[in-house]
Amino acid sequence: MSDPIQTVPHFINGEARMGEAARFAPVYNPATGQQTHRVPLGADAVDAAVAAARAAYPAWRATSLARRTHILFQIREHLAAHQEDIARIITAQHGKVLADAMGEVGRGLENVEFACGIPQLLKGEYSEQASTDVDVYSIRQPLGVVVGISPFNFPAMVPLWMVANAIACGNTFVLKPSEKDPSAALRLAELMTEAGLPPGVLNVVQGDREAVEALVGHPDVAAVSVVGSTPVARAIRRAAVAADKRVQALGGAKNHLVVLADADLAAAADGAVSAAYGSAGERCMAVSVVVAVEDVADKLVGAITERMAALAIGDGMDPRSDMGPLVTREHRDRVAGYVESAQRDGATVVVDGRAAPVASAPGFFLGATLLDHVTPLMACYRDEIFGPVLSVVRVSSLDEALQLVNDNPWGNGVALYTRDGGAARRFQFEVLCGMVGVNVPIPVPVGYHSFGGWKASLFGDTHMYGPEGINFYTRRKVVTSRWPSTTPAGVDLRFPGAR
Ligand code: NAD
Repeated sequence: MSDPIQTVPHFINGEARMGEAARFAPVYNPATGQQTHRVPLGADAVDAAVAAARAAYPAWRATSLARRTHILFQIREHLAAHQEDIARIITAQHGKVLADAMGEVGRGLENVEFACGIPQLLKGEYSEQASTDVDVYSIRQPLGVVVGISPFNFPAMVPLWMVANAIACGNTFVLKPSEKDPSAALRLAELMTEAGLPPGVLNVVQGDREAVEALVGHPDVAAVSVVGSTPVARAIRRAAVAADKRVQALGGAKNHLVVLADADLAAAADGAVSAAYGSAGERCMAVSVVVAVEDVADKLVGAITERMAALAIGDGMDPRSDMGPLVTREHRDRVAGYVESAQRDGATVVVDGRAAPVASAPGFFLGATLLDHVTPLMACYRDEIFGPVLSVVRVSSLDEALQLVNDNPWGNGVALYTRDGGAARRFQFEVLCGMVGVNVPIPVPVGYHSFGGWKASLFGDTHMYGPEGINFYTRRKVVTSRWPSTTPAGVDLRFPGAR
């Protein structure tokens, strides 16, 4: 009888390849709790993937901008045609509902669309006659083989944040997706190859920490992009810097949604529920804290509770579901542990997701949970929970709200709901966060801006995708040139200056 549990292969030099792993991790369908796949762990495929990327690099970087752009357009069309196919793979391994998975692929596609403009993005600058008969011009060149390490919560979008711009700039890529939901990245690589990406330009290595360490330390790897939890992003950045590699490292988050007394409360409640429970809270831009200012809390908690009662929780493949399960049983239990600790610490459990009927289903479900009277000392406030648990913190003024947000160690996203333009302007000016929403709950920048948090949400100084992505995946070269003229220049030992 054939094995019902499939092994997820690597993707090296244009084809799926089984490695020689001695260790494997299970991959589940979170909606049923059943194992569907196994994913190889270890570093046995790393050398082959880097070698394929290295071999593909000279021809790919020499491929004309016209040809590269053509291939990127083909990739855009092919991925768009298979959007639902990719989304179904995401739902089957991550658990998020299909509509949300479609949205994820759509946001990833924005990065491919941005990268289609690569001829414009790579244009250099030219100064004619900088000195007599001397021209100076700057150009951008790719780095070589670059590596991406992506988290479980966006198994297609985050790889596309990285891969689209990196390959458009002429680099070749080795992607190490999360071992919890590895098949979407594999499918992306297959589809891009079908669309005309030459073998070796995008490779996928499955694995865990061991593969990451081998990739980051590999002498032929020039740069590393990582998106993950704060401790992992921080550790990978340190290792990459120690190995003299360029690195962009995005970490975890704790995102606040501040509601002022003059806000449209219905819009604020809609925003809070959508941003807290979408993707079961497994988004780095999920709202996990509502900051209720002045006397708005009771009404807001009522409006949020009302909306929560209407949420349908179930298998993400069922179009009636608004929210799916969490990614693994361990993660679900960890998130449920925070509800218990919040209760012990004195928070009010307004809606307890542990009591939801779906919580006893075979999959990794937890109902949407609302905690009120949360204080900054409680574990449910201090830690990134990464699940469908929304905390309400009550404060008496905008000053206090700003203080709370700014004192938080993370600074990924923040949202403000108000009708007061002056308050919004002050908030934008003073808040210590990388991405700010004004009456917008999840301020993820579009693909032609760049994404990145502050404080413990991002290490180093490089944001991801958009113009900063092009900066990251290229290095500048400045050429100072003089073509022979009939008059010899003569020897001149002075430091070169413009004459
Ligand atoms: P994670 O840190 O556990 O894993 C991220 C990646 O690193 C995975 O590919 C994993 O295999 C690898 N990894 C895990 N432990 C490692 C180790 N010790 N050494 C080297 N590599 C290791 O994160 P996750 O649970 O997959 O994803 C959720 C986290 O990612 C959350 O904290 C979330 O906020 C964060 N995230 C941040 C952003 C952002 O843009 N800032 C976006 C998405 C997710």
